[in-house]
Amino acid sequence: MNRKEKILEILKDRKEISVKELSRIFNVSEMTIYRDVRELEKEGEIKRKHGAILLNERENPEALIVDTCPICDKPITRAYPYRITVEDYKVIEACCEHCGFLLHSKYEDKKVSAITYDFITENPVSALNAWYVVGSSAVPCCSPSAIPFASKDDAERFKKGFGGEVMNFMDAYNAIVNNMNISLKGCCHPQNVTFQINKMKKS
Ligand SMILES: [Zn+2]
Ligand SMILES: [Zn+2]
Repeated sequence: MNRKEKILEILKDRKEISVKELSRIFNVSEMTIYRDVRELEKEGEIKRKHGAILLNERENPEALIVDTCPICDKPITRAYPYRITVEDYKVIEACCEHCGFLLHSKYEDKKVSAITYDFITENPVSALNAWYVVGSSAVPCCSPSAIPFASKDDAERFKKGFGGEVMNFMDAYNAIVNNMNISLKGCCHPQNVTFQINKMKKS
């Protein structure tokens, strides 16, 4: 059995596993495991979610249950959804940053942390620390879009190609949440809320 086959065997026993764990099990570098994982992903054998590796649905019936976005009811198709944690225990995922911000607005009085993923590298980044290109011509999900980047330079570069405005979390949040009425056509529901950043917990 080669390593890729063994990885699949392990996943049949365990629901999910991380690259780090696999690199320990096989005593190879994480980069080597990433290569296997990418190939298995291309072959449709596995998928990645929240940094964990899972068997793809055809072998994992549980995964057939598609999560839907609590804001717009779209099925969540992104490998790395926008994820917020409320009061350290309640985890909620949104289809994209747009709906993620609207989700925040429902918990303005709660301690919330949020993780999103850099649009280019797909590395996790605290939503609070990310830079967003808001209202660009790139609309991977809901409109207007807010595309997250870990670095402001990357956001500026993206803006050159696709337009929009580079904003920090609060500005992007305000732009999405307060412009709901004019900008959204049937995607999400308008909400008027005040956001209290000092009550948000940094993750
Ligand atoms: Zn949504
Ligand atoms: Zn969306």
